[in-house]
Amino acid sequence: MNRWDGRVVDYPAETVRRYREAGLWGTRTIADELHAVAATHPDRDAVAAHDGRITFGELDARTDLVAAGLTARGLLPGDPVLFQVTNRLDTVVAWYGVLKAGLVPVCTLAAHRGHEIGEISRRVGAVAHLVEAGARGGDLVAFAAEQQRDHPTLRHLLVLHELVAAPGGDPAAARATVEGIQRGLDPDGVAVFQLSGGTTGVPKVIPRRHAEYWYNSAAYARSWGWTPATRVAHLIPVIHNAGIVCAVHAAHSVGACVVLGTADLDVSLPLMAAERATHVLLGHAHYRAAAHPGFGAATAAVTQVVLSGAKVPPALFDELERRGLWSGQLFGMGEGLFLTTPPGSPREARATTVGVPLSPLDEIRVLEPGGDGQVPDGEIGELCCRGPYTLRGYVDAAEHNARAFTPDGFYRTGDLAAVREIDGLRCVSIEGRIKDLINRGGEKINAEEVELLLLRHPRIVAVAVVAMPDPRLGERTCAYVVADGPFDLADARAHFAALDVAKFKWPERIEQRDEIPRTQVGKTDKVRLQAEIAALVGPGAGVRA
Ligand code: AMP
Repeated sequence: MNRWDGRVVDYPAETVRRYREAGLWGTRTIADELHAVAATHPDRDAVAAHDGRITFGELDARTDLVAAGLTARGLLPGDPVLFQVTNRLDTVVAWYGVLKAGLVPVCTLAAHRGHEIGEISRRVGAVAHLVEAGARGGDLVAFAAEQQRDHPTLRHLLVLHELVAAPGGDPAAARATVEGIQRGLDPDGVAVFQLSGGTTGVPKVIPRRHAEYWYNSAAYARSWGWTPATRVAHLIPVIHNAGIVCAVHAAHSVGACVVLGTADLDVSLPLMAAERATHVLLGHAHYRAAAHPGFGAATAAVTQVVLSGAKVPPALFDELERRGLWSGQLFGMGEGLFLTTPPGSPREARATTVGVPLSPLDEIRVLEPGGDGQVPDGEIGELCCRGPYTLRGYVDAAEHNARAFTPDGFYRTGDLAAVREIDGLRCVSIEGRIKDLINRGGEKINAEEVELLLLRHPRIVAVAVVAMPDPRLGERTCAYVVADGPFDLADARAHFAALDVAKFKWPERIEQRDEIPRTQVGKTDKVRLQAEIAALVGPGAGVRA
């Protein structure tokens, strides 16, 4: 009996058998996978971060002690732990330490505030809150103490540095504790909770399970042909799904090193140069990295640049090629499905598509938006998927799951795509989206959530939130409002601050109108508003199709 039984949707037993018989899913937990890799490559670098480094042997030993410490504090296997930390060495140590204690990391963001943490904490019944002292966004320790007062399940406040810096204890006893805990875990059970950008106002929780999550990462590493000599630079938030899958777990699945930087290129490019990174994933917010004076030195040893998060401008692809950098694309999501353009893909596929699914057992359908009919190759429809690392349902969300999945279990991604054949390869190109969100440099902002928050202001009568193009972040949030009296950006900011909402969700432009335009069927005409704001602010790189 697992504590999430009845709250998560399992893969059908026959499907699990198929994934295992095909050799895709293993039988180990994530913590045991790390331990096995560390036994094979004890002296290799596991992480070279901007603030320190660690070998696999050291990482394995240190995380045993962290896990034993957590257990001694009374945390029990299955207890959810909110992670609110940034990119640093200690974060990776805490990640595996928490998993070794059998606890379940909940991947919140350092930027989240009371509005988000409160909701997520209640949803999963979080037992501990791991925060970083002095992190971005102010003092998270004081913030966590406040949260604890309002959430009776949140019994433990864990401070990153104190948890992992110098955990004491007997290494052999700690190993025995970890082995005992891991023996009691089900490799098909919940390992991690990721959060969805989602399509409706309430954040959706994605259950990721040990075997499928590790498989996702191992298949990702394999798709690029990584070896233990690969050095994977990562600049975007490491606790995101992309950070865990594409950097931490993928590198470690083959005994490779994560070169862990931050979003700040002045920090990360010199680190990449010094650590001789061989692979780098550039999210949309870093599409201009090539213009940085440190880019040449940073990429001196790089053999693969992977671009992800938004449509790749042809000029960027050409520029990387001119510099002799092999480039490919990635499409991925916390819910599961990944597509990549592996080595050997034709240039056209790498420049204009996100390639092919990671797994031979990934199934993809492009359906008429909102319907069940499949559109022919070459035509645009909603990308839907089912496979060995794509979820079968969000946590505690039966009603939403009924809409988010087809009756035969395909996840409706909300992304628009077309299948195109290039040199005999059936590639997928991303052509926009139908889900109502703003993609702000990779952070997803749910339009409905922002609208509901604005409607809580006493002077707001009606609202429509849309993406406006932005050359650096791709998109930012614009709110069209109808209000009693004047309502401007300062009013919006004061309102969101009072509601304790994460800053990246605050509207960045207010357009006050006498009414919100409607379509013929009476729905808010967001297509029109989006075109209007794009015309007002000028074109940007990441505009929704
Ligand atoms: P997340 O779960 O936060 O990783 O976000 C997943 C979503 O990001 C996808 O459903 C897409 O909407 C978007 N996305 C990810 N990769 C790409 C890409 N290469 N091109 C366009 N959109 C992307």
